[in-house]
Amino acid sequence: MQFLRGVGPGRARLLRGLGVETPEALLHYYPRAHEDRRRITPVGELAEGEIAVVRGRVARVLLQRIPGRRSRRPLSVVRVVVADGTGAFEAEWWNQPYRKDHFREGDDVVLSGKVVRRRGLRMSSPEVEILGRAGASGEPGEGVGGEEGDGDSFGRIVPLYPLTKGLRQRDLRRAVRSALDSHLAGLEDPLPPRLLAEVDLLPLRDAVSSIHFPPDPEAVERAKRRLRFDELLLLQLALAIRRRDLVREERGFAYNLGPELDRRIRARFPFTFTGAQDRAVADLNADFAAPHPMNRLLQGDVGCGKTALALYAMLVAVANGRQAALLAPTEILAEQHHAVFRRALEGSRVRIAALAGGMRKADRAAVVAGAAAGEVDVLVSTHAVLEGDVAFRDLGVAVVDEQHRFGVHQRRAFRDKGLRPDLLYLTATPIPRTLCLALFGDLDVTVVDERPPGRRPVITIAVPPSREGEACELVRREAAAGRQAFFVCPLVEESEELDLRAAEEEAVRLRTEVFPDLRVGLLHGRMKAAEKRRAMEEFRAGRTHVLVSTVVVEVGVDVPNASVLAVLHAERFGLSQLHQLRGRIGRGPHQSRCLLFSDAKGEEARARIQAMVDTDDGFRIAERDLALRGPGEFFGTRQSGLPDLRMPEALVEGALLDRARREAFAAIAADPLLEREEHRALRNALRVRFGDRMDLVRV
Ligand code: ADP
Ligand code: MG
Repeated sequence: MQFLRGVGPGRARLLRGLGVETPEALLHYYPRAHEDRRRITPVGELAEGEIAVVRGRVARVLLQRIPGRRSRRPLSVVRVVVADGTGAFEAEWWNQPYRKDHFREGDDVVLSGKVVRRRGLRMSSPEVEILGRAGASGEPGEGVGGEEGDGDSFGRIVPLYPLTKGLRQRDLRRAVRSALDSHLAGLEDPLPPRLLAEVDLLPLRDAVSSIHFPPDPEAVERAKRRLRFDELLLLQLALAIRRRDLVREERGFAYNLGPELDRRIRARFPFTFTGAQDRAVADLNADFAAPHPMNRLLQGDVGCGKTALALYAMLVAVANGRQAALLAPTEILAEQHHAVFRRALEGSRVRIAALAGGMRKADRAAVVAGAAAGEVDVLVSTHAVLEGDVAFRDLGVAVVDEQHRFGVHQRRAFRDKGLRPDLLYLTATPIPRTLCLALFGDLDVTVVDERPPGRRPVITIAVPPSREGEACELVRREAAAGRQAFFVCPLVEESEELDLRAAEEEAVRLRTEVFPDLRVGLLHGRMKAAEKRRAMEEFRAGRTHVLVSTVVVEVGVDVPNASVLAVLHAERFGLSQLHQLRGRIGRGPHQSRCLLFSDAKGEEARARIQAMVDTDDGFRIAERDLALRGPGEFFGTRQSGLPDLRMPEALVEGALLDRARREAFAAIAADPLLEREEHRALRNALRVRFGDRMDLVRV
């Protein structure tokens, strides 16, 4: 990197911090936006609020120091008055006193920034370039302080990069420019000319050059389209390769299926399956009949009955003499599933066990030994089972509940344990179709789009601060009628410590001030397993009326008697997360209400809450969420196992995605190892892009 012009050891280190280690990586460090700086606005025409480019002469430079008032640090501001014959305005820089020495009266300068009005029009911390020095004969390029012009920051469409402290836009532009000069010609295009012509794509070098320094606005769009296609194609290739490996793998076990088994399993449930559940069962049975392992994603809205389907799949394995495991995202859920399964399997010969965090050593050892010896048929646990000492004699089916927390990488972990189970993933949050194909396109997907009959839709109400009293009255009335309420406290940015304090304080406040007449329980992630279990049991048994919790109840908890879900500071939650929370209620015969407490003033936050009030349909919520936040945020930073994408917005480009997908799957079908000469560049690109992170071992 340091061989690039303008990149010394210091900047090389800063670039490394951005994940840019090589000149090639710098070429793929795309701008977050562009700014058109081709037009110069006369000072006399500057309008407040615009981003404008101005060229003029420096009329005055002054440095003001403002003494610190009480405990405040002293401030300084450099003010530069610039005039162009149509008027004068001021550029100012706060707390950068050294800037004073960059300018001399009479300098020819160009500036770009947002125009604000404060005692006249001004720009605060504009980008600036000195085109000519006072006294010098107008020779550009000469200057001090790195403000000299190089033609890449003004008079054209300029790139704006994601920055890090210590790096300026100008530094990045210079580094990128020099990487383009030295390395663009060596960039290999992974796509054959045939494909470029068919999909109407720019050659890679043109696209890379244009994404940084476009000749015109249309060039940016053309470049983006090409680069997005590459992202999608590489991702789909990785999925096609995984799919190839899966289909080649033999299960090595032929399941005995049939109507008699189906009938016996269904008889275990106290209800008739919905039409959607029936269709899912048909998919599961087709998977069991296929020669290769199941790899299915079961998508369904909260409350549509995925757990029953999970148990169905597990019982197919058990009936065939094999074992089954369910991996839950939290201990609480693992215990809940365990309890539900035990009830469903009462009086049967199925041996079921659970692994929990707070278990006594001896108990745990017994369960582990049982699983290894094949004396446990169904094991329910958290994901810790994948890491630890746990072994199975013959694991037939593994169900991964609430897949969104863990991604879809369990197959590998199982393989490392010498196991090759059929895998069934359950999502908690519906995923819009395009995104699902883009990210999980190697899985088979079943959508469960129907809720059990007799459910009344949840009524959702936005509660502004002025109506909190009313909302609490409602909770009291429900409690008097024998119902219960969840109170969910918000996530405090990245701090479990604060989360928990917020929940504890809220519990105290509710107990003493708001509901002194009710019993208020508390549940949060830091409590000991036994305490959590007790809090949950008290609530499930109806001994506490109100359960205050952090987001631990978010997933899966099933207490049909709860008819109110109050979310405090609802504006701090994502839309899908709110929907997921809302799924905790409306599970019994009672009319349920979701109360979203919020004093949200922001546009986006209000749109989220309004979306919740407007619809109860998880798939529509997911679409809205995606539109509001974009695919990068949609899954949140916690979604594990997602590849870093250079252009996450590509994930929602349906037509481009379909094309990339077809191309990728066709390439792998024709040339499974990408060995042909025509695929060499593609194969290299794939390796550079994903390394061995995506299970490409056999490429
Ligand atoms: P989710 O899909 O959110 O995991 P669950 O599997 O927890 O939903 O099911 C929600 C509730 O619906 C449970 O109480 C379950 O017993 C019940 N349930 C599931 N399927 C049916 C059905 N076909 N008829 C009636 N109730 C059902
Ligand atoms: Mg569930």
